[in-house]
Amino acid sequence: MRDIRTVNENLADRDKKHLWHPLTQHKISPDMLPIKSAKGSILIDEEGKEYIDAISSWYTAVYGHCNSYITNRVAKQMQVLDQVVFSGFTHKPAIELSEALIKILPEGQQKLFFNDNGSTATEIGIKMALQYHHNLGNDRKVMLAFEEGFHGDTFGAMSVSGLSVYNGAFEDHFIRVERLPVPNGKNNEQVIAILKDLISKHSIAGFIYEPLVQGAAAMKFHDAQGLNEILKVCRQNDIILVADEVMTGFGKTGKYFASDHIEEKPDVICMSKALTAGLLPMGLTSCSQKIYDAFYSDDIAKGLFHGHTYTANPLACSAALAAVELLVSDEIQEKIQQICNANKKFVKMLRSNPKVGNARSKGVIMAFELDVKMERYGNLRNEIFKFFMDKGVFLRPLGNTIYIVPPYTISEEELQKVYAVIEDSLTVF
Ligand SMILES: *Cc1c(COP(=O)(O)O)cnc(C)c1O
Repeated sequence: MRDIRTVNENLADRDKKHLWHPLTQHKISPDMLPIKSAKGSILIDEEGKEYIDAISSWYTAVYGHCNSYITNRVAKQMQVLDQVVFSGFTHKPAIELSEALIKILPEGQQKLFFNDNGSTATEIGIKMALQYHHNLGNDRKVMLAFEEGFHGDTFGAMSVSGLSVYNGAFEDHFIRVERLPVPNGKNNEQVIAILKDLISKHSIAGFIYEPLVQGAAAMKFHDAQGLNEILKVCRQNDIILVADEVMTGFGKTGKYFASDHIEEKPDVICMSKALTAGLLPMGLTSCSQKIYDAFYSDDIAKGLFHGHTYTANPLACSAALAAVELLVSDEIQEKIQQICNANKKFVKMLRSNPKVGNARSKGVIMAFELDVKMERYGNLRNEIFKFFMDKGVFLRPLGNTIYIVPPYTISEEELQKVYAVIEDSLTVF
């Protein structure tokens, strides 16, 4: 047998031989840091150095890494049913998850369509909006999206993302999108005027939006009242409301979903990231009965002909169900409130620092701008990143925006350490 193991070389060097990492220009990037293990809020590297995962590994591991409540459930599930085709078959993990989710989703959600990640969750949201109108015989082919929105990296998701600056090679192949400025409380009327003008000029099928917090736009918050007014105007014009809750879902904003803060409820909700608690990749797109009914027909062509091989993988479903159980538990809800309160206190303190701009928090999300001029991915950003890592805190500054989205299970001591290291950084940069 051929020996496929390689020995006597460190992982960082071996990584460079065959691996191509996401969002990375390898020629100018530092080496990748090998992580050996993770537990709770802590990531541990090859040398045994510990880092507090203050962004829950891109907003996924919100109940802590390797949470035994979740890993035990998945371990049990994998002894029983690992994978089965979800077209023609069904299974208990998917059914139980659907029942649990419908109970906590914003009012009006009725059906769940499984997919594999956040990008495919939004692809389905876009397809639902476009095909809804197609099925009803309406000629509506344009999507509406916010400036600086981010919805993923597949073609449909990329098209509606206003933030994607490195997409030059693909732009000719995008779906048609019109863009709306984000309401900030001061420009609300102006935004509504722009919206009405766009509606009068284009046949808009759906509006896709990150409710209240635009994650990739560097935790940009927008005005709930302004968003509500936009959603109302869209609804009056039969524009399908597609809430991309991939980042904001499952407790990040202090409520189960960011849409819970807003009166006007979406027709479609895209979920991923914390859905499976960081254990396995999965996405979900939920919708109202109205959407489903537009696809329900004797005509086979009116169905939603989209499917992924691993649709509703039983292991991912069992992880997601265990995660929902944790989310609604008193213990986790209390922890979320504690982090909300601690964030508010920290933001108040930050506001008195002249180096800090726009300190803000919403739920467990806390962000501010460091008042220095820099390129979004410039060297200073890397220096700030390195400063935090050297001190044992994993944060990923976006340009000059420093933000945290800690696991709900973070200890008081760990959270205070994150704040302290951030405060330290203000004396250095
Ligand atoms: C991360 C993210 C996506 C894309 O999810 P992937 O799983 O990375 O494909 C889409 N929308 C929002 C709001 C996100 O934060």
